[in-house]
Amino acid sequence: MAENLSRVVAQDKDFLNIVNGRHVAASSHETIAVVCPSDGVAFATIPACNEHDVDRAARAAREAFDHGPWSRMPAFERGRLLTRLGRLIEQRGDELAALESRDTGKPVRQGRADVAAAIRYYEFYGGAADKIHGDTIPFLEGYTALTLREPHGVVAGIIPWNYPLQIMARVVGAALAMGNTLVVKPAEDASLSTIRIGELALEAGFPDGVLNVITGYGRQAGAALSAHPGIDYVTFTGSPATGTAIQQAAAGNNRGVTMELGGKSPQIVFADADIGQALPVLVNAIIQNGGQTCSAGSRILIEHSIYDDVAAAISERFDRLVAGPHDADLDLGSMINPAQKGRVENYVRSAEAAGIEIIARGSVHADAPVNGFYVAPVLFGSVDPLASIAREEIFGPVLTLFAFGDEQEAIKLANQTEYGLVAGVWTRDGARQHRVAKRVRAGQVYVNAYGAGGGVELPFGGFKKSGHGREKGFEALYDMSATKTIVFRHD
Ligand code: NAD
Repeated sequence: MAENLSRVVAQDKDFLNIVNGRHVAASSHETIAVVCPSDGVAFATIPACNEHDVDRAARAAREAFDHGPWSRMPAFERGRLLTRLGRLIEQRGDELAALESRDTGKPVRQGRADVAAAIRYYEFYGGAADKIHGDTIPFLEGYTALTLREPHGVVAGIIPWNYPLQIMARVVGAALAMGNTLVVKPAEDASLSTIRIGELALEAGFPDGVLNVITGYGRQAGAALSAHPGIDYVTFTGSPATGTAIQQAAAGNNRGVTMELGGKSPQIVFADADIGQALPVLVNAIIQNGGQTCSAGSRILIEHSIYDDVAAAISERFDRLVAGPHDADLDLGSMINPAQKGRVENYVRSAEAAGIEIIARGSVHADAPVNGFYVAPVLFGSVDPLASIAREEIFGPVLTLFAFGDEQEAIKLANQTEYGLVAGVWTRDGARQHRVAKRVRAGQVYVNAYGAGGGVELPFGGFKKSGHGREKGFEALYDMSATKTIVFRHD
């Protein structure tokens, strides 16, 4: 069991990995400074792990899978541990929300929503662990055939910085419910809550080595983990470029992967839609988490006859949006780091230079620290569908509006990017709701609603460049296991 579990994390400065039930530093003793995006000030450190640390964690997870009590534990007991972890997270909810928002720059309100979602994942997968099973299959006379769902073994979960608590929860919940063991590698920009969850898992009673958390740079710790021959399956959420690198590394060992790689998600607003209901949802879908959300609703396609009115109503809301420090709990916080701020600003500058009109712009709060990584929300009107801001994932509070003439054109525009993660359709016409939902190429389609990845029960994942495999819901349990077929001859 872990040492020092009674530490009060709010006072921590030097966070440590969790490997085989112990707090450990990187073998090199190198660390990475943890910077609060709200003010640019470093307030903690995390270990900078290398391939030796990765190897140690992968071996611990292997030992726990092959020889620990984990592999012999009934499914309902694994589920009970996940549920207990959810309860501990609930008890430490305020602390975790504060930690998450300080580490990522998101408003505390969003941190609380992330904690609530994380609790739901542990509840859901805790309850699901003993409810997933194989089949019996009608086969030849004299035979009985059945399938078992077996864990892959050791799973690597490579986590991004935008929603560490939530994304770790969906990975941990599904992987551990199926009986895998895990090595989690959070993003170097936001690791603190994932270490804390590793600690709480030990407090909940997970056996040593079942859930290991190691921190470090992607190109070092992440690359070593995805190429490690002791890893049986890799699940990744992040950028398409990194996803490709991870798939190539995993292919070297012929291992399976789940890839969740972002989007350029459209919302289609037809003239018969309930605009009053749609408006706050349309704006929130790009403002949530400062637009740093894979399922951000970054494109709004509006039917010509209502374009001017809807654009004016969205503009009016955009002009009032204010970004500021996480603890001020304004409409949005900051970008995660200076590179992300620069990337968003570059997109805005080049679109302006290309003649695309900014029709509204929010602001950064006058008292926001000057060294924070803030970007004021920007609304572009009448965007050319071929412009880069119309096709590329910006990952910031930049919303683009487009006009369309008819349903065919709306569907064409919606599908006119390389991505296909989420879509929203706003119309009162029931037949159109079904037609459009079926023809839009996206892993989730919402009708008269938009859930930026919401709902732990709902399978989630992409078409096209948005990735493959599914997370959340029962579907994730299939990804996190392999089917074994057993045939008995008894004639
Ligand atoms: P990234 O995809 O590079 O990082 C995500 C995770 O992968 C982190 O844990 C990182 O350490 C790790 N990683 C990086 N390089 C790796 C490698 N070679 N091998 C293994 N693991 C590696 O994301 P980023 O560089 O922090 O952000 C860049 C862009 O990615 C953003 O601007 C945004 O467009 C996109 N992004 C998408 C999501 C999403 O949820 N889809 C999340 C974060 C970032």
